[in-house]
Amino acid sequence: MDKMQICHLYPDLLNLYGDRGNIISMTKRLNWRGIQTEVFEISVGEHFDPEKYDIVFIGGGQDFEQEILLPDLLGEKTANLKYAVESNVTFLAICGGYQLLGNYYKTWNGHQLDFTGAIDIHTIGSTERMIGNFMFEAELNHRTIEIAGFENHSGMTFLGSKVQPLGKIRKGSGNNGKDGTAGARYKNVFCSYSHGPLLPKNPILCDFILQTALNEKFGNYELKTLDDEAENQALTAMLRRLR
Ligand code: GLN
Repeated sequence: MDKMQICHLYPDLLNLYGDRGNIISMTKRLNWRGIQTEVFEISVGEHFDPEKYDIVFIGGGQDFEQEILLPDLLGEKTANLKYAVESNVTFLAICGGYQLLGNYYKTWNGHQLDFTGAIDIHTIGSTERMIGNFMFEAELNHRTIEIAGFENHSGMTFLGSKVQPLGKIRKGSGNNGKDGTAGARYKNVFCSYSHGPLLPKNPILCDFILQTALNEKFGNYELKTLDDEAENQALTAMLRRLR
């Protein structure tokens, strides 16, 4: 039976607003199709093997947690994360986790946290929080998909030239409240400011990420269709409120 290995990085420090639900959503949607999963939790002091995992998930955290894990992140973990990104491992990173894949985060009070630089983005703190339910549009498989989420961040993220936005903001702030971009894509890395969590109520995005990881591991992988009626009803209700 096919099997996927998922890494949850810093599950004890980066897990805001039910971000762990993204792991549950990915696992369930794989299991419902007869694909086995194994989840490995890797935190401070534990080795991150860049060749072991098919999917790496990093959730969100406050500036405080981001600073606490910094000594652990820099050095070997940073080198291994960069290697995994460049080797086309599939990543999903949310908010604080998204920020730490970038070059640096300059907090609102001028404190600079140098991060991994695994993707070419940087974040500048502002004194105003970007908070609330939000929605954006993403192009997935040549279709425009509406995605609903919840954001709460003061960091404004700006994308470098090699990084594409995950989508265009329709309601809310997205990356920085200025340029209309939402989230980021680089190689097989998907980043978003959306907590909530993101994937359970956005099954098309969840499947797109799973398909990316399955194709990488097994070649062209045929993903069976699931009955998403309940998920789509939840999404439609949220989109209707936001429009
Ligand atoms: N500390 C970051 C910010 O406020 C990330 C917050 C989060 O993960 N929700 O910008």
